[in-house]
Amino acid sequence: MNVVEDPVKESARRNPCHRKCVLCIFYDDDWDPVDLAQGRKRYMMWGKPCNSKGETMGQFCYYCVKVFCALFRSVPGMTLSNYQKSLDDVKLKLHVNMVNCVVKKITESGGNRRAVMDWDTVEDCMHW
Ligand SMILES: [Zn+2]
Repeated sequence: MNVVEDPVKESARRNPCHRKCVLCIFYDDDWDPVDLAQGRKRYMMWGKPCNSKGETMGQFCYYCVKVFCALFRSVPGMTLSNYQKSLDDVKLKLHVNMVNCVVKKITESGGNRRAVMDWDTVEDCMHW
């Protein structure tokens, strides 16, 4: 899976189209919540890098992909698409809670998206 290597360059060439992440509340033209907490206005990081015109590619925001990759990618046969289909209303709510928790943890680590995440503590904060 392609990853966004440089959020600064990526944001500068973005040309978002108000696309909503299919799993959570974020739109591609929202300000990224981690950057916003650091006082920077950058477009929402997305799961896939944008194309050469800066258009958003893929259906999932960066944080939903991060949750999926950390917790579900190692499950045999599990793809992002299968994961999306497996989420009923209850599981979707749990997923959104995890996304919010990941955003909070990255923000608390000073905005370092590559910081090693303690997923046990993420699961701890998945309150209903
Ligand atoms: Zn999302």
